[in-house]
Amino acid sequence: MRRAVFIDRDGTINVNVEYLDNPEEFEMYPGVAEGIKLLNTRGFFVVVATNQSGIERGYYTQEIVEAIHARMKKELWEKAKAWVDAIYYCPHAPETGCECRKPKPGLLQKAIREHDIIPRISFMVGDRPLDVEAGEQVGAITVLVPEKGKEESVARELKESWAVPDYITDSFYDACLWILSQG
Ligand SMILES: [Mg+2]
Ligand SMILES: [Zn+2]
Repeated sequence: MRRAVFIDRDGTINVNVEYLDNPEEFEMYPGVAEGIKLLNTRGFFVVVATNQSGIERGYYTQEIVEAIHARMKKELWEKAKAWVDAIYYCPHAPETGCECRKPKPGLLQKAIREHDIIPRISFMVGDRPLDVEAGEQVGAITVLVPEKGKEESVARELKESWAVPDYITDSFYDACLWILSQG
């Protein structure tokens, strides 16, 4: 049985580019590799959970998403010898009404099933209230790290959401320190 940290990708790990379709444009935020390394060292199972509706919309292929993830893993390793243990993505457009597009908890539920994760002692970190909603629905502890430059719109979204993050911070690295401090 494992303790996990679920992490959103766009706007949390990397600068959010709408429909990112080029690994060259993947830009990781400072402190992310170092923060994930802390989680690795403490024995957390690290899971990236990301909405990639651009696949079903036909803006980019699954292969492109895999290439971006390969680039992300390479950079994590090169910067801090950090790694992610699993990556789950939703390829669907919102109209499809799937069960995996966040704020639905399907991606997290799948990870929990496939990797024997105990949700109540696991964490969800994301830049949007929809990430917090997904995390709360599986019973995880939630951390909101609003996207840089989008703090005001995230604050508005949070008011309209039922989500109540357990912790809010402006830095991913600080989010990881907080997770480690939770015992
Ligand atoms: Mg995001
Ligand atoms: Zn989906």
